[in-house]
Amino acid sequence: MKLAIISGDRAAIVTDKGVVDVSQLFPSGTGALGSPWLRWLDQGGTVAELSALDLTTFPTYELDQVQLQAPLVRPGKIVAAPVNYLDHKVEMSEQKTIAEYGVFLKANSSIIGPGEEIVLPYSDKRIDQEGELGVVIGRTASNVSPDQALSYVFGYTGVLDISLRSTEDRSTRKSFNTFTPVGPWITTADEIPDPDRLELRCWVDDDLRQHTNTSELIFSVPELIAYTSSVMTLYPGDIIATGTPAGVGSLSNWQTIRLDIEAVGSFSVRVTSKGAIPYSERPGTAVLAID
Ligand code: MN
Repeated sequence: MKLAIISGDRAAIVTDKGVVDVSQLFPSGTGALGSPWLRWLDQGGTVAELSALDLTTFPTYELDQVQLQAPLVRPGKIVAAPVNYLDHKVEMSEQKTIAEYGVFLKANSSIIGPGEEIVLPYSDKRIDQEGELGVVIGRTASNVSPDQALSYVFGYTGVLDISLRSTEDRSTRKSFNTFTPVGPWITTADEIPDPDRLELRCWVDDDLRQHTNTSELIFSVPELIAYTSSVMTLYPGDIIATGTPAGVGSLSNWQTIRLDIEAVGSFSVRVTSKGAIPYSERPGTAVLAID
């Protein structure tokens, strides 16, 4: 199943017959759990529960008649994998991989959805796209083994890990507002028995910048879940961005990024530099003058 959010924070299920509006069953709430699917996951929702629904009884729209939003907003956390493809290690002249770096966190406030805009904060710093497979956790996971790890996955989604190339820690460079586009929906895990065998492509305008298969991951999806859960407890709705392959590159005003992941789906977001300031004008730079 493909779980989407459409305009007005309405929960919807995307089928081959169209987009089924199930918002009457999965209402939005308030605050972090205002996102209908996040709220439902937090309350123990399962795919089996969804499979039992008679979807013919709900309003149904054509996909091109609806505006998709991010399938999850403000999840408990967004965990991300640095240097988890060897070709990306080479292009960044990195000496280490995820095995040495571990994982990092992106602010949950950085999520946007399909059709929204990435806002570049600085006018004179390189900011790159990183197309990644996203894992959505379905049940609480702590110290799980690689063998058991996939049973904790609710589904998969596309994630763009937008990254400022500068000296700050990863969590700062990758946590600006709008720096985590997620979409187009969550494809439930029953449709993707092997997440380590998916084609991933990412275009900027007409340029296919990234093309890999998740079989190239250094930490496979089960290994990444096992490792992460050895550090921190994972809760329903948490997202793990699994890392990016070679082909990252700088973004500029008016460009469109499209991410396509086999069996998951594809979505686009645009880039704007409106409001960007010179890096030297960011708050805190007066301190740099002291030394
Ligand atoms: Mn990344």
